[in-house]
Amino acid sequence: MRNITIIGAGHAGLQLGIGLLGQGHSVTIISNRTADEIAQGKITSSQSMYNLAVSQEREQGLLFWDDTCPSLEGMHVRAGNADAGVMLDFKTRMPAGQSVDQRLKMPRWMNEFEGRGGKLLIQDVDLETVERLADQSDLLLVATGKGELGKLFERDTARCQFDAPQRITALTYVHGMKQREDFGAVNINVNPGIGEFVHFPGLTHTGPCDIINIESIIGGPMDRWDGVKTPEQHLALTLELIREFFPWEAPRFSNVRLTDDNGVLFGGVTPTVRKPVGTLPSGRPVLGIGDIHVLNDPMTGQGSNNASKGATMLLQAIAERGERPFDRVWMQQVAESNWDSAQWSARLTNTMLTPPNHVLNILGACQGSSQLAQKLAAGFNDPRTMANWYFDEQGANQMIEACSESMAEA
Ligand SMILES: Cc1cc2nc3c(=O)[nH]c(=O)nc-3n(C[C@H](O)[C@H](O)[C@H](O)COP(=O)(O)OP(=O)(O)OC[C@H]3O[C@@H](n4cnc5c(N)ncnc54)[C@H](O)[C@@H]3O)c2cc1C
Repeated sequence: MRNITIIGAGHAGLQLGIGLLGQGHSVTIISNRTADEIAQGKITSSQSMYNLAVSQEREQGLLFWDDTCPSLEGMHVRAGNADAGVMLDFKTRMPAGQSVDQRLKMPRWMNEFEGRGGKLLIQDVDLETVERLADQSDLLLVATGKGELGKLFERDTARCQFDAPQRITALTYVHGMKQREDFGAVNINVNPGIGEFVHFPGLTHTGPCDIINIESIIGGPMDRWDGVKTPEQHLALTLELIREFFPWEAPRFSNVRLTDDNGVLFGGVTPTVRKPVGTLPSGRPVLGIGDIHVLNDPMTGQGSNNASKGATMLLQAIAERGERPFDRVWMQQVAESNWDSAQWSARLTNTMLTPPNHVLNILGACQGSSQLAQKLAAGFNDPRTMANWYFDEQGANQMIEACSESMAEA
């Protein structure tokens, strides 16, 4: 049995912490917010989770919402503008995923963690405390997301594509949206050069809801968020932008209302990769996980999926380590394994923020090939499957050709 401490009770910290209890370790998680504060606080994410990640949570016995949360069973992509209308339109099925409000999920998991024998402490951990915790633990993990302790981990310049936010992201949780008749979908709408509008069904305190994510290109015509002060203004601007820039979607939103006053959020994320092995003033190494390691723009919905996949990978690595020390070399190896997977989610997200021509060609070709559309959706679920074809022109052309050939044969 090892003595393991995790700072941060978010997706990465809790999923890992609960899993480690199952391996018989003594686990402490330290959170700067109580379960009640999280439950009653503002929304933190849109947390669309795809099949691979939710299946891992289900295997860990952590998916408590299968009966109540609407399924995400497909993807519908449209691109256009107000003048021309929809110019690109395709949809495809995908294995089921779901989005459970983190205000529901994290408090439930905190409860579960304590129920399975974990020790949960409430404290805003500072640097001095990190040293003490490192001294007392066989392994100290930092899972504080966008919190201040991220400064312990150096930015990995070679792996970062951007040094500033590329979008203003505005999230809104609503009731009253007109539902699709075919399947619960991740709806992705692109207005080229202006921004994106992504929405999908989810589950919140007040039951099933729809989660809207408007991504405004900074300085562009949708970047009107500065003057927004109240939840009502936030909803009003969201609907105004939908009507103005994504009019084909507007009729479904004519009767929506906020789920609650805390169901709104806006801000910008600088997509960042950090070196996840930090060094404390004493020289001790600490391992950063989840958003600490790879922080993506929310557009493609990869962060919670990465947190979940990373926790699953780390559980196995810790089990295999047995009684040997969790030293710096081990941490580096684990971090590289995480990057082997998470880098593809970062690359997928970054190509959607600034799409190169070959990606535009792929999206165009998806319209005529259901096989290609399925491959794209499968890539959101597991971006590693895109490694050989999505990221360069030659691979993209070959895949487009292969998928159109198979269509011709069918
Ligand atoms: C607007 C938005 C929309 C998103 N939509 C999606 C999506 O649709 N799909 C998807 O997969 N991902 C999405 N994400 C990303 C996803 O929410 C994150 O990647 C994921 O929550 C990261 O998990 P984490 O455990 O690393 O960090 P977090 O979930 O941020 O958890 C960190 C925890 O640490 C605590 N903490 C911080 N500092 C301290 C401290 N000093 N001491 C103690 N505790 C501390 C925090 O309070 C928090 O509870 C979105 C993100 C944003 C911002």
